[in-house]
Amino acid sequence: MPAFPWGFFGHKMINRHAVFLLPPEMMILYKPHLDFIEEHAVDPDKRRYAVKQEAPRHYIDMDHFHPWDSIPSSYQKAVDKYGEDSLARHGIVPWWIQIMTSRLTRAFELKDKFAIIKLSAELGHYISDAHVPLHTSSNHNGQLTNQVGIHGFWESRVPELFAEQEFDLLVGKAQYIKSVSGLAWRVVRQSAGAADSVLRFEMLLSNSVRPDAKFSYETRNGVVVRQYSTAYSKAYHQMLDGMVERRMRASILATASLWYTAWVNAGQPDLREIAGRSFTEKELEEWDELNRSWKELGMPGSSCSN
Ligand SMILES: [Zn+2]
Repeated sequence: MPAFPWGFFGHKMINRHAVFLLPPEMMILYKPHLDFIEEHAVDPDKRRYAVKQEAPRHYIDMDHFHPWDSIPSSYQKAVDKYGEDSLARHGIVPWWIQIMTSRLTRAFELKDKFAIIKLSAELGHYISDAHVPLHTSSNHNGQLTNQVGIHGFWESRVPELFAEQEFDLLVGKAQYIKSVSGLAWRVVRQSAGAADSVLRFEMLLSNSVRPDAKFSYETRNGVVVRQYSTAYSKAYHQMLDGMVERRMRASILATASLWYTAWVNAGQPDLREIAGRSFTEKELEEWDELNRSWKELGMPGSSCSN
């Protein structure tokens, strides 16, 4: 069953909604590139199949770290304490969010339009991944509890079925974040705290329905695919009391707030002068290259690897 972090659908939706939370001084740059920011929300996932260092940036196995308050909040200290190999295995998303926010701040200082748009799109991806409970658990696809497929169920199937019609994704305005590190760690701690319910409720539900009510079959591009049925998905969404919607709303707010914070920390540069410039051929070529190499690898059909 295909499963992508927040699904490609969810990531795109989060980035798109985040743009509308920005102040007008930023909107002038972001809105003309709304489609780009949406489209490239999924670049980090495309890169996972080509770049070895990419995968750990999307998750952290919080159950591996004890106690949580002993985890160094800075990446360098974490490397000193655990070593790079161990971090690469157990994930680095909360540190990576800080690194990406610093890079975005630098891009604003330099008024480098291409970097601003690119880094914004990707930062939105990482902070949104951090909001997904199963991105903070070593049982990331229910493989330890006979619930394989639950990763995509929570973050792809449920949003795809209900986000457009039912979710309220209007979440106010971007907020200044005093401590990016504080935000990143708060988000992963909340996610890790919710992972247990994500797994347990699906187990309860699965045990309470007939096996043939759990899945439905659909033909896509001539191939019959098995997926969680609409009724089963709805029941799960209700058991979670709207958790998927809440985490999606929080992802949108955090995404916009990190963009805004990077801009403020860069001294609120005037973006009007770069807003009008279009991307150069070379910059566009870079986007195309990533897309090509990803397509050549084939559509990843298995689950995202955490
Ligand atoms: Zn991801």
